[in-house]
Amino acid sequence: MEQKNLHIATRTVHSSENFDSTSAVNPPIQLSTTFRRNVDGSFAEYLYSRYDNPNRRSFEESVARLEGGDEAFAFSSGLASTQALFQTLKSGDHVLLPNDVYHGVVAQLMELFESFGVTYTRCDFGEPAIVEQAIKPNTRIVWTESPSNPLLDITDLEEICSIAHAKGAMVVSDNTCATPILQRPIEFGCDVVLHSATKFFGGHSDVLMGVVVVKGNEEIRRKLKRIQMIGGANPSPFDCWLASRGLKTLALRVREQSKNAEVIAQFLSSHSKVDCVYYPSLPSHRNHHIAARQMSQFGSMISILIKGGLVEAMKVANSTTLFAHATSLGSVESLIEHRRSVEGGHATSPDNLLRLSVGIEHADDLIADLEQALDRI
Ligand SMILES: *Cc1c(COP(=O)(O)O)cnc(C)c1O
Repeated sequence: MEQKNLHIATRTVHSSENFDSTSAVNPPIQLSTTFRRNVDGSFAEYLYSRYDNPNRRSFEESVARLEGGDEAFAFSSGLASTQALFQTLKSGDHVLLPNDVYHGVVAQLMELFESFGVTYTRCDFGEPAIVEQAIKPNTRIVWTESPSNPLLDITDLEEICSIAHAKGAMVVSDNTCATPILQRPIEFGCDVVLHSATKFFGGHSDVLMGVVVVKGNEEIRRKLKRIQMIGGANPSPFDCWLASRGLKTLALRVREQSKNAEVIAQFLSSHSKVDCVYYPSLPSHRNHHIAARQMSQFGSMISILIKGGLVEAMKVANSTTLFAHATSLGSVESLIEHRRSVEGGHATSPDNLLRLSVGIEHADDLIADLEQALDRI
């Protein structure tokens, strides 16, 4: 059957073809770093593992299909993939970022790329007119993250794409928090989609990896392939195998996590110790209507402002037992995190902000856990 005619839940299970000659239902891990040449000395399908590896190729092809892109490039972390994208730029180029964006992306532009003449500015992506004004003649990349980290801002991807394309910039979408189960940015016109595969794709907090998917744009694809081959920030075959295995349960996990998060956001929004809940299903969210149109569910990330400050927020984060006080997101287990203290020198989160990554536990148990922790302040 044609992959594109199947539902996404079917495609996540069947997107990776086996590459092995034994007819094993699941692919083996190909650890060999080098591959014999053909007898006439020409190169066979694989040559050397930094260039390409069967497990990496299998993962890349799966993700490209799920996102509806033409080609995908896996890297050794989410930030190695954002770095690869910035490495396609040249001195004098400009990147436009949302005010609320994964803090590592800002740190990378500031600490690693500014000295090479790549500049960036930030603005409110919740208002397309502001984005239009902020695009400069030298803007090459308009960077989107929807929902964003940690404030769960929502960007109208279709609107931003038409504005950016009219001004000659390409649109990158960090789709880590939504995953292709809830939202496929290429369908809205985005040129590039990226993921920290460390999060939902791996899904079990045991693999660090990233991936970039490109639609069209052969020049960027050529550059990314060279950055992978000669830059060498590539994931191991085992990492690729783990991430490929994670993809098979992605639809189940994301749906259950999002269902849980919706109930928990509702609970938190009526709790007396909580000042504010950031979650796009809530009618109080300024771009709820866009999220409702753009996503099939609202995702599993919630941020809250606790009544009080640092002490109260830390107290809650350290009092949950099911929610582990730890960074990261997208895994089967629930996590809670004091966000400001992980953001380092570029911190923008207020001291009373806690970010929750909701897992696949029973929602009633998660609510009881949060309730007893909130009772302590
Ligand atoms: C975690 C994360 C990244 C960075 O990915 P790593 O795998 O930690 O390098 C980038 N963007 C978003 C939205 C993330 O959550």
